[in-house]
Amino acid sequence: MRPNSQSVKHRSPHGSEREFGGTLGATCIPIFLPLTVLYLISVCRSPAASVLQWPPPLPPGGQLWDPLAPVLLLGWITLHVFLYSLPLGRVSEGLVLRDGTRLKYPINGFHSLCISLVLLVLLLWLGAPLGHLFELLLPLAVCAIGVSFLLSFYLYIRSFWAPHHALALGGNTGNPLYDFFMGRELNPRIGNFDLKYFCELRPGLIGWVVVNLGMMMKEVELRDSPSLAMILVNSFQLLYVADALWNEEAVLTTMDIVHDGFGFMLVFGDLAWVPFTYSLQAAFLVVHPQELSTLTASAIVALNGIGYYIFRKSNSQKNQFRRDPTHPSVSKLETIATATGKRLLVSGWWGLVRHPNYLGDLLMALAWSLPCGFSHLLPYFYVVYFTILLIHREARDERQCRSKYGLAWDTYCRRVPYRIFPYIY
Ligand code: NDP
Repeated sequence: MRPNSQSVKHRSPHGSEREFGGTLGATCIPIFLPLTVLYLISVCRSPAASVLQWPPPLPPGGQLWDPLAPVLLLGWITLHVFLYSLPLGRVSEGLVLRDGTRLKYPINGFHSLCISLVLLVLLLWLGAPLGHLFELLLPLAVCAIGVSFLLSFYLYIRSFWAPHHALALGGNTGNPLYDFFMGRELNPRIGNFDLKYFCELRPGLIGWVVVNLGMMMKEVELRDSPSLAMILVNSFQLLYVADALWNEEAVLTTMDIVHDGFGFMLVFGDLAWVPFTYSLQAAFLVVHPQELSTLTASAIVALNGIGYYIFRKSNSQKNQFRRDPTHPSVSKLETIATATGKRLLVSGWWGLVRHPNYLGDLLMALAWSLPCGFSHLLPYFYVVYFTILLIHREARDERQCRSKYGLAWDTYCRRVPYRIFPYIY
């Protein structure tokens, strides 16, 4: 039988399907990933910076805690709650929910980024020692992990008061460990404040930019001026974050918002994993400075530019097509019909591979690591992890699309046989 969107729409939220290794995965990941964050930060700042060293260098207990860390972290989150609530930008509607309603979301993340950057410049001008973030990385990560657990427990408990139609299809199996991990409630809100949407692109993502800037200031403290490698890493990643927030509305149609419940997986990813592992290259460069020739730097800039172009163009093409298929920029593209009434693009970027946006993202990931040279594996952690994440994400999306579109999806796969890398995968 080929389920169509109607059957998905009315499916009971008591899903029995298990992802991420089921209960075993849901038990091990919340233990293993927080330890990985702390381990990577410690290794990154050690002179050897070797991920192959055994036993791994453990940080002295005293380095894990600093009373300033919870103050800074909670202050940062509070600032972003305040910025989220400001009547800036427009309000957009999400996709139609199972009960037929649509939620409203403020599109003011880019304003939050700009205001945060202005405040940072002001703090620097007033002499705030932003470079001290380098010493605070471990205590801040410990606090972010603590906040992730607390928020996830709160979300799990409050979900039992949520109406049935507000539960996610995948995180409501009745197994507490699995549901805690996947998230039971789809769009938990306190009044109009949407907890998942808030966490998705604000405190963690903008926090990543601040951590990077802190690493740059530390480098200035140590060596009087920022290196070209550090400037590249900071600029590339700032561009990525600014782009995500400039196109914030697009997050409303992503798997995270539309499909996944809000549980430990997303909370931890947003608040701890992104700011503290995506900034590893900048932290690495503080202790392991790299010389870059102008030619090498130009080649890396070009690689990042190509990746960004593919990433942005393909994401925009699909968003435009989903929002208005009659728009002149997409109306001439070849498409195939599906039983749900929605069409699938089979030409343009989405005719090249089935996930051109992942291809662009991976090229950028490589460009972020290359300024760190080839002497260590650690700066390439992000590329390796991100490749695994996107291959896994592609498989999850593929399953969902096959269940939504059935035969039409099979036709699309025959027309566009490669998933991410043309002629390779
Ligand atoms: P996508 O933006 O790739 O969206 C997948 C959805 O697009 C499908 O479920 C389907 O939904 C629609 N779709 C697929 N193929 C077609 C087609 N041929 N024609 C029309 N619509 C199609 O999903 P993600 O949320 O995974 O990725 C969004 C961006 O975020 C990507 O650029 C990704 O690289 C990035 N990302 C970054 C992460 C990071 O940590 N830096 C983590 C995860 C993602 P439907 O048909 O229902 O519209």
